[in-house]
Amino acid sequence: MKTALVTGGAGFLGSHLCERLLADGLRVVAVDNLYTGSRRNMEAFADNPEFFFVEADVCDLSPGDPRLVPPQGGGRIDEIYNLACPASPVHYQATPLKTLMTSIKGVLFCLELAKATGARLLHASTSEIYGDPLVHPQEEHQWGNVNTIGVRSCYDEGKRVAETLVADNIREFGIDARMVRIFNTYGPRMHRDDGRVVSNFIVQALRGDDVTIYGDGSQTRSFQYCDDLIEAMRRYMSLDEAVVRGFFARHALGAPVLNVGNPGEYTVRELAEMVLAKVGSNSRLATKPLPGDDPKRRRPDITLAKELLGWQPRVPLADGLERTIEHFRATL
Ligand code: NAD
Ligand code: UDP
Repeated sequence: MKTALVTGGAGFLGSHLCERLLADGLRVVAVDNLYTGSRRNMEAFADNPEFFFVEADVCDLSPGDPRLVPPQGGGRIDEIYNLACPASPVHYQATPLKTLMTSIKGVLFCLELAKATGARLLHASTSEIYGDPLVHPQEEHQWGNVNTIGVRSCYDEGKRVAETLVADNIREFGIDARMVRIFNTYGPRMHRDDGRVVSNFIVQALRGDDVTIYGDGSQTRSFQYCDDLIEAMRRYMSLDEAVVRGFFARHALGAPVLNVGNPGEYTVRELAEMVLAKVGSNSRLATKPLPGDDPKRRRPDITLAKELLGWQPRVPLADGLERTIEHFRATL
């Protein structure tokens, strides 16, 4: 039986990933400091005998940490998924220095662990590395347009440094690592106070509160349902190292980075109207100031992911919103 270590395993995406890994027959060690994640997210699989939760901060871990050894013994790690990092602007900006250090120290820990064990690593990067993009849609060869000193920089630059650390560890030590640049992904188990747009709008609509549009609502995002992302991550991790290296060499990319998102592009105002219609809510639309450095447009070019993984997103926004609304109806 293979063992996977998932950092950020109690979070929104981490918990879906753990559930999928267990369903795929892996033993799972999840590490999380419960900053934005929760034990509740893991309820569906917490009593699986092959699931093992470690409450710890990735900044404090080293490869030999005895807390990482599952009770069944062994302790060999075959796959590492690095998801630990608050992802919502509200939460990552609340503790900006901690956010930056979590990105850097978290990926360093995972890289050291990969080096020590020979495990394969998948690092969760983000569309934020493109910043406020100068080219639309975004494809992997773009270098990004990021403010180094703005309120989003702790997250954006942390994730950019993490990509550099992965790329240089591959070049210098030949470790088997891959990266996904995740575009806005939503679904059940987002925290009701997460602060990101999909969960905010649904919670506000269900409660009958004003739906808060930041700025004039003309900025766009592309929304991916969580199951589509997890499927792409699993396919990516199933590929042989030589296949991955050959693919990115052919595409003249310095490291294995793949955009993973749903290319459907919506303005924030369109999203608000869809949510209100689906919830059947009488909430009103209210305008609030646009946060600093808020990117104007976002849409992934997923040509490479389609080619390498034989994958494309399956869940349209309308269906994904319905599933997410059901989750919040049941839990609010
Ligand atoms: P989330 O906030 O629900 O999950 C992050 C998890 O990391 C939480 O459980 C949190 O408690 C944990 N964590 C934070 N700091 C930690 C630390 N120092 N030590 C241990 N655990 C820590 O967010 P999410 O949406 O599930 O995001 C998961 C990953 O995916 C993040 O790395 C994020 O940057 C990336 N990502 C997500 C999206 C998205 O749209 N959801 C987009 C791009 C990238
Ligand atoms: N947004 C909004 N109202 C909210 C939350 C977010 O209008 O209650 C906007 C936000 O300004 C951004 C977009 O929705 O333009 C997506 O925000 P989110 O925090 O989900 O993710 P981002 O892509 O900005 O990291």
